[in-house]
Amino acid sequence: MHVYDAVVIGAGQAGLSASFHLTRLGIDHVVLDGNDRPGGAWQHRWDSLSMHDVHGVADLPDAPAPGGSRERANTVVPAWFGRYEDEHRLPVVRPVRVDRVSDDGDLLVVHAGERTWTTRTLVNATGTWTQPFVPYYPGAETFLGEQLHTADYPGPEHFRGKRVVVVGGGASAVQFLGELAPRTDVVWVTRRPPVWRDDFDENVGRHAIGLVQERVREGLPPASVVSVTGLARRPQEQEAARLGVYERRRDMFARIEPDGVRWADGSFERADVILWATGFRPAVGHLAPLHLRSERGGIALLQSGADVQTATTAVRDPRVQLVGYGPSASTIGGNRAGRAAALAVRRFLSSHDAANV
Ligand code: FAD
Repeated sequence: MHVYDAVVIGAGQAGLSASFHLTRLGIDHVVLDGNDRPGGAWQHRWDSLSMHDVHGVADLPDAPAPGGSRERANTVVPAWFGRYEDEHRLPVVRPVRVDRVSDDGDLLVVHAGERTWTTRTLVNATGTWTQPFVPYYPGAETFLGEQLHTADYPGPEHFRGKRVVVVGGGASAVQFLGELAPRTDVVWVTRRPPVWRDDFDENVGRHAIGLVQERVREGLPPASVVSVTGLARRPQEQEAARLGVYERRRDMFARIEPDGVRWADGSFERADVILWATGFRPAVGHLAPLHLRSERGGIALLQSGADVQTATTAVRDPRVQLVGYGPSASTIGGNRAGRAAALAVRRFLSSHDAANV
């Protein structure tokens, strides 16, 4: 039986960065990825999302990101990731959907159906895309129209002529509203008023990431970075605002009925479609057998090197690193976390090798 020094699960930005640094450090590892093709979650983004629309894709280590063209993000980024895997000879195996990781004394065993990989350490880089979150509202099952989540967004033409309730206060909701308003009748519903931020800069970003970092250190479920940064108003959003799209905002409804949604005060909006732009949760169900969660519901992470911004090591099991989780759930965060995780893996392996001499 081959025992790897590290197994990386997931080949998005965070997993590729981790694999790059593990390779550079000469650490024997394999990357297991659930998709059929390179591209992480980017290959599943909707067709109307161009490189110009994305908030900015960070460079991978040793490879500048493609620029802000009008080309589709769901083809440009995957092609770039594919070239990166080839050029750096990253040991990616796919498709492998990991269903659980179990603890076998000093070793960890990664299971995908009948197949297993045994390893001394694990870098989890599974992102959030496979865990769309839809909050429950009474009556949801009685709705006769269509309910879609961001993960299923079929592009604006699908909605032409329909009455659409868009739920959510994040970047996806704001972008959908901008696309849908010229074609459909839209109502925007959010739990909290959106916080627009026209003064967004690196310091605001750093501060926001620090707030999410604090939650993760305390073992709370991570909030999305946007929930603490607020929404930057790019030219597309400014144009949509000029059309009045964002003014028709209502607080959250109380229940869903067959033909629409109803508020606690009795008011009602008819809807053909409810579009849930309500975010994602970390895809960490396969780690459940390792009991990494704190009593507060999240996986507490600590930093194991000098980089105070980038905690990746699971408090409850230092063999496990989480990258692209919480404060590192962005392309730039994934990059940094990949490096921090590779260094933490090296530290863990060398301290254990030294102890066994
Ligand atoms: P992913 O890209 O999600 O990759 C995870 C990989 O793990 C996938 O290939 C998946 O198949 C695999 N995987 C998952 N579970 C398993 C399993 N059990 N077994 C095996 N493999 C598994 N960030 C930015 O910095 N800039 C942006 O413009 C931006 N735009 C965004 C737009 C949207 C709509 C969303 C939802 C997010 C956006 N983000 C953006 C956030 C950003 O996409 C992510 O934080 C980052 O790309 C995620 O990289 P990742 O490596 O953590 O995960």
